[in-house]
Amino acid sequence: MPRIADRGVTNHILKAFNLHASKRLGQNFLIDAGVVNGIVATAEIGPGDRVLEIGPGIGTLTQALAEAGADVTAVELDKKLPAVLAETLKEYDNVRIVPGDILKTDISALMGEEPFKVVANLPYYITTPIIMALLEQKLPITRIVTMVQKEVAERMIAEPGGKDYGALSVAVQYYTQPEFALNVPPRCFMPAPAVESAVMDCVVRKEAPVDVKDEKMFFRVVKASFGQRRKTLSNALTGVGISKDDVKNVLNTAGVDGTRRGETLTLREFAALADAVTALNE
Ligand code: SAM
Repeated sequence: MPRIADRGVTNHILKAFNLHASKRLGQNFLIDAGVVNGIVATAEIGPGDRVLEIGPGIGTLTQALAEAGADVTAVELDKKLPAVLAETLKEYDNVRIVPGDILKTDISALMGEEPFKVVANLPYYITTPIIMALLEQKLPITRIVTMVQKEVAERMIAEPGGKDYGALSVAVQYYTQPEFALNVPPRCFMPAPAVESAVMDCVVRKEAPVDVKDEKMFFRVVKASFGQRRKTLSNALTGVGISKDDVKNVLNTAGVDGTRRGETLTLREFAALADAVTALNE
C-alpha cells in the first residue's frame, strides 16, 4: 500500500470500498503527508512507543505511526471501517484495530498500566468530551497530540481574562503543558472542513501545577464558576451546593473578590477557592 496521505490514494480507497465520508461521524480524512509526518514528529514517536489512536478512519495516520515503529491500538466507531483497515494496513503487525465508541471504551482495560501516548485526528463533534475523558480518567498517558478545530486549540492555551478561557482551558492546563504545534488549513483534508484546524501537543504533567486538597472539588468549583458565565462568583459558587453565607466565607478565606467572574481566575485562585470549600466540611 502506498502512503494513504494523498488525495489520489484516498480517493481510490474510498471508491474501491464504496465509502462516503460521514459528516455525522466527523470524517475528514487527512490527505497531506506533510501534516501526517508533522503529527508523528510532534508526538516524537519511536520504535516500541505504545499509542492509542482515536478514529483511524481509513488508516492514514495509523500507517505513519506503524511505519515509525509504534505499537498502535486504534479505536474506530464506524462499523464499515475495520474491513477497510484490514486491507490498507495489512502489511503491519504492530496495529490493533478495536471497533467501538471511544467514549464508551474502557481505555484502562484496553491499554493496561504501561505508559502510552494518544495521537489522533479527532472527530470534531466530540473533541471536548474526548479530551476531558482522557484527562480525568487518570490513565498512564504521557502525551496527547491531537488535531482539533483551531478555536478549540485557542481555548486549550487561553489565559485568564479572555473570551476563550473556560473549563477546558483549566482542565488541559492543570493536567498538561499544552503547546500549539501546527496550523492546518482545510485543504489538507478530504472533504475539506469548514473550519481551520491545528495540532496541539499536550505533554502530561508529572505533578499538578497548583496544590489542591481535593481535585474533585477543584473541578466542581471550576465548573460552577464557568457554568453561568454572566454570573459573579458570589452567585455562581452556590452551584457547588453551599449557602450564600458559606460562599462569603469561602471568598474571604481565598482572598478572592466576589464581584469577579470565573473567567478571570487563575488556576491558583480556583485552587484557593476549592480548598476553602473543602475546609467547610472538615
Ligand atoms: N485518522 C483519520 C485521518 O486522519 O484521516 C480519520 C480522522 S476523522 C477526522 C475522525 C475519525 O473518528 C473517523 O474515522 C470517525 O469515524 C471516527 N469516530 C467518530 N466518532 C468516534 C467515536 N465516538 N469513537 C471512535 N471513533 C470515532
